[in-house]
Amino acid sequence: MTITPRPGIMDIALYQGGAAHVDGVVNVLKLSSNENPYGPSDRAKEAFSRAAHDLHRYPVTDHAGLRTAIGDVWHLDPTRVICGVGSDEIIHFLCQAYTGPGTEVIHTEHGFAMYRISALANGATPVEVKEHERVTDVDAILAACTDRTRLVFIANPNNPTGTMIGQAEVARLAEGLPSGAILVLDGAYAEYVEGFDAGLALVESRQNVVMTRTFSKIYGLGGLRVGWGYGPQEIIDTLTRVRGPFNLSTAALAAAEAAVRDTGWVDRCRADNARWREWMATALAELGVPSDTSTANFVLARFTSEAEANACDDYLRTQGIIVRRVAGYNLPQCLRITVGDESACRRVVHAVAQFKGAR
Ligand code: PMP
Repeated sequence: MTITPRPGIMDIALYQGGAAHVDGVVNVLKLSSNENPYGPSDRAKEAFSRAAHDLHRYPVTDHAGLRTAIGDVWHLDPTRVICGVGSDEIIHFLCQAYTGPGTEVIHTEHGFAMYRISALANGATPVEVKEHERVTDVDAILAACTDRTRLVFIANPNNPTGTMIGQAEVARLAEGLPSGAILVLDGAYAEYVEGFDAGLALVESRQNVVMTRTFSKIYGLGGLRVGWGYGPQEIIDTLTRVRGPFNLSTAALAAAEAAVRDTGWVDRCRADNARWREWMATALAELGVPSDTSTANFVLARFTSEAEANACDDYLRTQGIIVRRVAGYNLPQCLRITVGDESACRRVVHAVAQFKGAR
């Protein structure tokens, strides 16, 4: 006898994570998951180690220390911050609390995979909206809204395109949404954009905008799984009802709190990323592999065909370099390459040059 899951569950495509090894290669360079090549700050590592003394205790349930630190650094009201197991979990909370059968969740054509997964997992209908040349198209999103729309997800900067839209466009989107719909601004890569408030001013000024953020990218803590959300009190109170009381471990909370306060480390990582991103994008373009201007910590390299992109990926693997195929995001001609440190950028460009020269 087959026990049938809820409709929609079997439509979920399994998440394609980045492999961490290549058979037979020792010096593997992983540039497939947009991780910080420098790792977390020393202060975060020290806080993580200190937490080892309390492993027999349950973690705190209210995350007060981390929420206060986030509030201090970003000048936010800490009572309107919610913390989760990566920003993935905040996406889940939103879908659990606000969607379900008969409702719709909008995401963009090349938007992050979890929006669709979480919508389907909660019985909602994901609605994909076309982008305009790999950039979020506000008019197309507004045209797709119905009275069933509950959540509209946009990542700004977007993954895997690396592109972003301006604050005026984001505000226009928030203003145009039907009542009953929440705009979710996914700021997973926001810290990479110099001087960007990540849309927080808009969250402050509206009742229908929520922001999600992560410690997995610039803070270098992907292995610990910490993310957060910020929004109107009413929405945060709602999300807190579906959050498990002990969702974040003591060590993860301690490391994240130290990481967010170490703004000097974040500034250095941002500056280095910008420098090597421009270098890598320019070098790849000179090899005949252009990309859109990226504002994040990766470049979406465009090849002449799907066959060429796959052949390049295969060649890079023989060189021990792992990048990300994005055919699942409907970008089969492209490879997404994380910006590493100087030697990583030089190594991947050298390998692409060899690949191009060999053809
Ligand atoms: N949003 C975007 C746009 C992402 O690219 C990612 C990670 N790939 C996430 C959210 C989720 O990140 P995490 O769960 O590690 O916080």
